[in-house]
Amino acid sequence: PVVILLNPIHSGKDSMVMAVIRDITEPKRTAEGVRKTNEELMALVTELQRRDREMQSLISMDDLLQSCTSQEDAYKVIGFAAGELFEGHTGCLAVLQASGRYLEIVARWGTGSLGDPIFSLDDCWALRRGQLHEVVNAETGLLCRHFVSHPNTRYLCVPLTVQGEILGVFCLAGAPAHTSDHQIGQLQLAVTVCESIKLSLSNLKLREKLRAEAIHDPLTGLFNRRYLEEMLVRELHRARRRKSPLCLTMLDLDNFKRFNDTHGHDAGDALLRELGRLMRAKLRKSDILCRYGGEEFVIVLPDSSLLDAEQRIEQIRAQLKEVQIQHGGEFLPAPTLSAGIAQADEHDFDPGELLRAADKALYSAKNAGRDRVIRYGAKEKDR
Ligand code: GH3
Ligand code: MG
Ligand code: MG
Repeated sequence: PVVILLNPIHSGKDSMVMAVIRDITEPKRTAEGVRKTNEELMALVTELQRRDREMQSLISMDDLLQSCTSQEDAYKVIGFAAGELFEGHTGCLAVLQASGRYLEIVARWGTGSLGDPIFSLDDCWALRRGQLHEVVNAETGLLCRHFVSHPNTRYLCVPLTVQGEILGVFCLAGAPAHTSDHQIGQLQLAVTVCESIKLSLSNLKLREKLRAEAIHDPLTGLFNRRYLEEMLVRELHRARRRKSPLCLTMLDLDNFKRFNDTHGHDAGDALLRELGRLMRAKLRKSDILCRYGGEEFVIVLPDSSLLDAEQRIEQIRAQLKEVQIQHGGEFLPAPTLSAGIAQADEHDFDPGELLRAADKALYSAKNAGRDRVIRYGAKEKDR
C-alpha cells in the first residue's frame, strides 16, 4: 500500500506534476493492529458484561434458593433462574423420585421440547456414568434416551450427585453458541449452576426429612403430639375465622395392657399400626390424625358437627371389631376402643380447653363400661 501525492508545478509554459509516492505498509499495519486490539477489547467488555450478568443471576438464584422451604419452591426458582442464565437454550431439571427407580422432570425452561416427563436412570448417560455427558454433534454423538425428540444441536447432561447419592440430572440443549470460548463459558456456567442446585436440593431434602421425623410417629406413621399442638392452634384460628364447626376426638384402646400381656408387645405394635391404617382410610384428607401417646389417638375434624364426628368415630369403633391381627401364625381379635368428642365453639377455641374436654368425655366413656363414644356434655363440665 502506498499514498501518492501529486503536485502540479507551473514553470513558464511548462507544466509538470510532481509525484511523491509514500510506502504506508507500516502505518497501515499499525492502524490494523489498533483496530484489532479495539475489537478484542470490545469483545472482552461484552464477555465481561455477560459474565457479570450471569454472576448477578447466579447470586440471585442462590439467594432465592436459600429462602426456599420446600423442594417444590426450589424447582420453581431453578426453572426461572436457568431460563435467565441460559437464554436461547432449552433445558430441564429432573429429580430422582422416592422409589429411586425413575426420574421426573420438575422444572423446564426455553421454548423447545426436551425430555420425557418420566424416565429411568438408565436412559441418561450422565447418570449411568456418574459424570457430565456432553454431545457436541447430535448426529454422531452418543445420545441419551430420555429425549422425546432428539435435540438437533449440542447438549449436555450434568448429574446431580451429593456424597454418592443421586439427586437428579440437569439437561441443557441449545443453538450452537457463537464462539468456542463462549461454549466453554456456558459449560462452566452450567457446572457452577449445578453445584449450587445440588447443594440446595440436598439441604432441603435433609431439612424435609428432619421435619417429617420431628412431626411423625415412627411406629404408625401418623402425626405426633408435637404436630397436633402446632396444627390445633392454626385449625382453631381458621375455624373461628370461617365460623365453621371443629370437633376433636380423643380415642383410647380398651384394656390394651391386657392385650399386650396376653399376646405380646409385638402383637400390640401390629395392632396400633393396623388401627392407624384403619382410621386413616376412614377419615377425610383435611382431618388431622395423631398418635397422642402410647395407645391414645387424637383426631381433629375440621368442618365437622358433633353429630357428623360422632357418626364417623362410631364407624371406626365398629370396624375395629372386625379387625383381626395376624401374629405368630394366628389371628388375634382387636380390643375395643373408647372415645370422647368435644366441639370447639363451646370452649372458646382454646386448644388446651378443647383437649381437656375431649379427655373428660373419654374418661366418661371408660367409666361407663368402655367400648363407646361419648360427647362432652353437662356431666363432664361439672367434673
Ligand atoms: P384402659 O381401658 O383403661 O385404657 O386400659 P389400658 O390397659 O389400655 O390402659 P393403660 O394406660 O393402663 O395401659 C396402656 C398400655 O398401652 C400400657 C402399655 O403397655 C401399652 N402401650 C403403650 N404404648 C405402646 C406401644 O407403643 N406398643 C405396645 N405394644 N403397647 C404400648
Ligand atoms: Mg387404654
Ligand atoms: Mg391410655
